[in-house]
Amino acid sequence: MRSVLAIGAHPDDVELGCGATLLAHAAAGDSVTMLVMTGGENGPGDPAQVTGRRLEQEAAARSLGARLVWGGMRDCMLTADAGTVALIEGVLEETGADVVYVHAPDDSHQDHRAIASATQGAARRLSRVLHYQSPSTLSFSPTVYVDVTAHLTGKLHALGAHASQVDLSAMVEPDAVVASARHWGAQARIGYAEAFAPTRMVMDLAPVPRRRAEDVVPASHRLVPAPRLVG
Ligand SMILES: [Zn+2]
Repeated sequence: MRSVLAIGAHPDDVELGCGATLLAHAAAGDSVTMLVMTGGENGPGDPAQVTGRRLEQEAAARSLGARLVWGGMRDCMLTADAGTVALIEGVLEETGADVVYVHAPDDSHQDHRAIASATQGAARRLSRVLHYQSPSTLSFSPTVYVDVTAHLTGKLHALGAHASQVDLSAMVEPDAVVASARHWGAQARIGYAEAFAPTRMVMDLAPVPRRRAEDVVPASHRLVPAPRLVG
C-alpha cells in the first residue's frame, strides 16, 4: 500500500489537478491525504459562501476517500518560507507519504507558485514528486499520465461539492475538465487521463497484484467508454 499526499493552496485545487488520480489510488487500497493550505477566503462569493467553502472541501475529500488536513494559512499570502516548508515536512512525516502531488511551479497565482516551491524543498528526499495543472498554470509539459477513465465521473462528483466556486467561477467548468482529460488521454494513447510533470519519478518495478477497475469502481462513478483512437 502506498501513502499519497496531495497538496493544494486553496479548496478545489487538488480535486481539479489530480482528483481522479486520488480516486484511483483509493481504489487500489492506497492511503490518501489532502493538505489544503488555506480556506480560500479570497475566492468568489459573499462571506457566507466563503465560510461554507470549508464544509465543501470536507465533503469533496470524503467523496474522494481522502483524509483532509488544513494548513491554516492565509489565502493569497502564501510564501515558500521556512515555516511553510516545515508545515509540509510535518505532514509528510506524519503520513509517511511516498508519492506527492502538488501545483506546477510556473503559475500566475502566487500561492500556487509558493506551494510548489515549498513542497520541492520539503519533499527533497522523496522519490516521487509530481506536479499537476491548474487553470492558472502557465507552461506545463507533462510526461507522466494516469489513466482515469474509470474515475472521471467521480472527479466531477467531487468538484460538484465545491458549489460556491463551481457556480461562480469560469475556472471550474465540468465540460473543460472532461475535455482536458480527453486531451491528455489522447496524448498518452489511452482514454481519459490526468497529466503530471515530475520533479522526480522513480519507477517501482516490484510486482503488484492485478485488479480490474470493474471490481473497485461503483457503477455510479463509471463513465461512458472513451472514443477509440484512430491511427
Ligand atoms: Zn488555487
